[in-house]
Amino acid sequence: MAFAYSLCSSSKGNSTYIGDEKNGILVDAGLSLRSFKQKMDFRGIDYSAVKGIFITHEHTDHIKGLKTIGKLLNVPIYSSRKTIEHMIKNDMLPQGGKAIELNKKVADMGDMGVTSFTTPHDSVHSLGFRMQFNDGKVAVVCTDLGCITDEVSQSIMGSNFILLESNYDDQMLKMGAYPPFLKHRISSTVGHLSNVDCAKTLVDLLHSGTTKFMLGHLSEQNNLPQLAMKSALDELIKTGSELNRDYILSVASAQCTGDVVEI
Ligand SMILES: [Zn+2]
Ligand SMILES: [Zn+2]
Repeated sequence: MAFAYSLCSSSKGNSTYIGDEKNGILVDAGLSLRSFKQKMDFRGIDYSAVKGIFITHEHTDHIKGLKTIGKLLNVPIYSSRKTIEHMIKNDMLPQGGKAIELNKKVADMGDMGVTSFTTPHDSVHSLGFRMQFNDGKVAVVCTDLGCITDEVSQSIMGSNFILLESNYDDQMLKMGAYPPFLKHRISSTVGHLSNVDCAKTLVDLLHSGTTKFMLGHLSEQNNLPQLAMKSALDELIKTGSELNRDYILSVASAQCTGDVVEI
């Protein structure tokens, strides 16, 4: 049975394993090699289960472990053309690492096919990923986006499971210590998704048939898991649906707890 396992998720580091014990992929590598090994061992997933590393974009919190983890795993690295070019130019890929450009085509990973979609974010390019399993189930990882574009919406709706960004609480960002330019950057349409934006999207997702939600990429400065959870529940309750009856909801913790969500 395929599952989603968040190895880490916050503005400081992101990495998610999607698959089963034998076959899967890693979305982003924003953690140290040591931490990666610890977290995989913790769940008893052999490293050889990872058949590919999918990189959303070049920001440090998504690729800081790519060189070392990529060298250990020795599997293809998938991303957009622009991101690959940037990573080659800036020596961000593991030595001898094979990078494969994801067009609109499906990357065949055995038990699943992976497609990408563009997310509006202030990097050279940014992607979200949609994993379709052979049994028809669909998992989506969608973080680092300032707003929900039509392309994003079309790509995430109808999935079974989604890890969706719930980056900041409006009040905390407004009152927080970040300089004005950074506050503006985060809340812009090419920044990050707020708790409120995320919560509204969850309602649309629920209507589309999605029932397994994981909130991710929470800012450690401008958010709290309780606030993200509350925003989501406040919106979802308006639909008349009930937690743990009609849908499940969790927060991907900054440092993993070992919990997995079955897809
Ligand atoms: Zn990020
Ligand atoms: Zn980013």
